[in-house]
Amino acid sequence: MNMAPMETPERELNYLNLFWLTTTPVLAIVGVTWYWLHNGFPWANLLVFTLMYLATGLSITAGYHRYYSHRSYECGKGLQLFYLIFGAAAAQNSVLNWASDHRDHHRYVDGEKDPYNIGKGFFYAHMGWIFYADPLADERKKNAPDLTKDPLVLWQDRWYPFLVVAVSFGLPTFLGLLMGHPLGGFLWGGLFRMVVVHHMTFLINSAAHVWGGKPYSMNNSARDNCFLAPLTFGEGYHNFHHKFPADWRNGIRWHQFDITKWWLWATRTIGLTSKLKSVPEPLILKARLEVEMEKAKQKLSIDSSILEKAQEVLENGRESFLLAMERYQKAKTDYSRAKRYWSVTMRREIRNDIRKYSKELANARRSWNQAMDLVNRFSYSYSGAKSIVLLTALADIFKSR
Ligand SMILES: [Zn+2]
Ligand SMILES: [Zn+2]
Repeated sequence: MNMAPMETPERELNYLNLFWLTTTPVLAIVGVTWYWLHNGFPWANLLVFTLMYLATGLSITAGYHRYYSHRSYECGKGLQLFYLIFGAAAAQNSVLNWASDHRDHHRYVDGEKDPYNIGKGFFYAHMGWIFYADPLADERKKNAPDLTKDPLVLWQDRWYPFLVVAVSFGLPTFLGLLMGHPLGGFLWGGLFRMVVVHHMTFLINSAAHVWGGKPYSMNNSARDNCFLAPLTFGEGYHNFHHKFPADWRNGIRWHQFDITKWWLWATRTIGLTSKLKSVPEPLILKARLEVEMEKAKQKLSIDSSILEKAQEVLENGRESFLLAMERYQKAKTDYSRAKRYWSVTMRREIRNDIRKYSKELANARRSWNQAMDLVNRFSYSYSGAKSIVLLTALADIFKSR
């Protein structure tokens, strides 16, 4: 990474953070267990827990992360205030600090200036990094000029400790009191909920940089992990997120579990959120094909002119796939325009085009997948003769279309 000797000074421990992050999990688990044993199963407190869990969890993922760190959509002052108040209640620092750290995480991912660099170990990326004072804290704020100009953000930064006490602990205690269980409200909706949301966020910086696939980019350690997604309000699709951080979604397919995406969709439906930014489908597909091509090249990287030719055949196959995708997308755009302005015959023609190109696209996709299957089954121990067989088979796949 960048060579900069001033970047690695002696790091000082932040004793408050160290104490807070190590004692609260113990107190939370002992507290809720003790309360459960003495008061039976706490249904009323579970309700307080759920409300606080959703409000603070979404304020981190939809608010701190997708809105303030990446500006992936727009929303009004009311919703901003909600994110700031309940984001503070997640007790993960003010959004000014959180977002400037996070923007550096994306900019310098896996490098020395990445605040939660996974190269320093799982525990460090998970929570160890918070035990230290950050010597770059002021420098990091330079990448958040939009936030240092936002009066609501500055207000939250100033009142952050007060908000933690009042909203993270005061509010659930009060809600518990209304149901006749103030201590239960404090333990379940305050302490235990805070610890759960802490580790939910921390897992993205640790586990989502260690376990899972890399379908969109091989350039950094971020992974897509479908098991992490439900635990993290949808942030588990982290490889996609690092490749396309400005997209409002992390799990882009309809079946990918991303509560934050559904929340943003719902708030847009009722008019609270607007201008959701998404990456055009062909670009996403292009990223996928590039990764598959990269993996195929690694597999075929034996010194052999035949295998070089195989790479060339694949390269051509990918090109025709992308071309088909482009034509198909264009025909669809033309059609939606034609619906408004053009004649019936014109529409019929475009509809035929769409049908033709979608067939072409499906064929190109099938050929590509077949070729990838062949390459994946190819073994380094194969001799020259087998390589010729592979090359012929690949050429056949792309010729037969
Ligand atoms: Zn990351
Ligand atoms: Zn991010």
